[in-house]
Amino acid sequence: PSAEAGLYTASDQIVLLTQENVESILINSTAAMIVEFYASWCGHCVAFSPTYKALVRDIKEWKPAVDLAAVDCADQENREVCKTYKVRGYPTIKFFHAYSKPDYEGLPFREFSRNVQDLRHKILDKLETHGEPWPPACPPLEPTSQMEVDVFFETNDVKHLALIFEDATSYVGREVTLDLLQFDSIAVRRVLNTEESLVTKLGVTEFPSCYLYYPGGNFTRLRVDIEARAFYSYALQRLPGVVRSGKPPPVSTELLKNNTEDPWRPFDKFRVYMADLESTLHYSLRVELGAQSVFQGRALTSLKAYISVLAKYFPGRPIVTNLLKDLNSWLQKQTGDRISYEAFKEKLENDAQSPNSTLPDGVRWVGCQGSQPHFRRYPCGVWTLFHVLTVQANSKGSDPQEVLRAMRSYVHNFFGCRECAGHFENMAAETLEQVTSLPTAVLWLWSRHNVVNNRLAGALSEDPQFPKIQWPPPDMCSACHAVKDNGEHTWNLTEVLKFLLTYFSSDRILTDYLE
Ligand code: FAD
Repeated sequence: PSAEAGLYTASDQIVLLTQENVESILINSTAAMIVEFYASWCGHCVAFSPTYKALVRDIKEWKPAVDLAAVDCADQENREVCKTYKVRGYPTIKFFHAYSKPDYEGLPFREFSRNVQDLRHKILDKLETHGEPWPPACPPLEPTSQMEVDVFFETNDVKHLALIFEDATSYVGREVTLDLLQFDSIAVRRVLNTEESLVTKLGVTEFPSCYLYYPGGNFTRLRVDIEARAFYSYALQRLPGVVRSGKPPPVSTELLKNNTEDPWRPFDKFRVYMADLESTLHYSLRVELGAQSVFQGRALTSLKAYISVLAKYFPGRPIVTNLLKDLNSWLQKQTGDRISYEAFKEKLENDAQSPNSTLPDGVRWVGCQGSQPHFRRYPCGVWTLFHVLTVQANSKGSDPQEVLRAMRSYVHNFFGCRECAGHFENMAAETLEQVTSLPTAVLWLWSRHNVVNNRLAGALSEDPQFPKIQWPPPDMCSACHAVKDNGEHTWNLTEVLKFLLTYFSSDRILTDYLE
């Protein structure tokens, strides 16, 4: 509970240090650790916290080599921790090398700005000068040479060697090396533009640029839209044979057929399917809400708001929208302070029997199919449904937060994954008020979904067939991606919005596999 009062929560993927856990985490850690010592009352710390959270997301893939932690020195219970590490001003950031001893006080960052790139570079500088013992999960960061490359495949059991050519001041090579740290079958090394023999051999003229090098000396240039970290990392993580450590390699749809009890339904990854939306409605209305016996108070308000946005914006077949509208007008007429699920269900099933209104019983996942029964499906459907609803509201609605408020309270009150609900509520509480127009509502849900994708990349719940990525990837929407003058990846929000409005638009939804 003390940690929750601070500036960070477990949803931020930050290690929350306390008096009890500090030793077990900092001492003898196999990863280097970055620790922010802050005080929750300090204005600078409050202002810095979004940067620190963004940094954590930015270098999430580096965790096995370098992980980030924070401790609230304003919390009385942590007073001893901050005293032991001789922290006097806030925020203080310290670097702890791997296998630190109990008396080690950490190496402070002398000056740091509210800038993710600057902090990331500082971390790389510290990592590079890390003495022995080197963090075991951290690949070599120093530039490689022709001599090393010549014998590389004799000592390294990988399929691909990616070489990033750059000048000495560039950090891209080291960043991509660490971005690929949790992926098998690939190694990344930086090569300086002064390494003449390799530069000449491969005919490299652009810095940075990335080449794939193979046993026997074959090589090919990695094709990317923009020569920058995000594009290299995304492309390399998707090379044939490259998989996240510990995940099975993707299989063909031929094999998928035997994995699931349902027949596999071939689908277009770039489209939304009505079958997924109807399956989501079925599961939500008949199964998830069915876990409630009565709706009252906030749950009742939440149910009414949810059915109301469905009735207004669900771009379904007329038989389905008729049912939703009917259900909605019935529900809004109920003036009592409680409604039983039985009454709700009776109304639903009665409506579903009339000739011009129905909601197909059962689920039929298509774009939300998983390679195993425990992957994707309903939660995938929930995201898809609400993206579609925000896009519909963009052209038909007037209240910018209407759909998002309905989603927030649905998830909070009814979504079966309680941990998900907690995380989502944290995000909504933090940023939903920034939504002041219908287009920003569409973008808000997209960007929050990407925060969740970032957190879940590599998690047990990730379907290896459908890895969690920052979406839409460059091969889906090239114009959505850009880099700033300093080489940092950025989204072109105008293009992203255009993409979302098209991707989730009602006239592009495919009706294959409907009953
Ligand atoms: P999903 O993430 O479900 O996405 C479905 C589809 O939406 C994708 O296939 C893609 O086509 C599209 N898409 C992907 N990213 C975006 C984007 N940024 N914007 C628009 N469209 C996009 N699981 C947990 O383990 N822990 C959690 O804390 C958690 N929180 C959740 C909170 C909510 C509100 C929801 C609805 C789900 C949550 N889940 C959580 C489940 C998790 O997010 C996924 O839904 C689930 O793992 C299935 O993943 P998927 O591969 O089908 O893709």
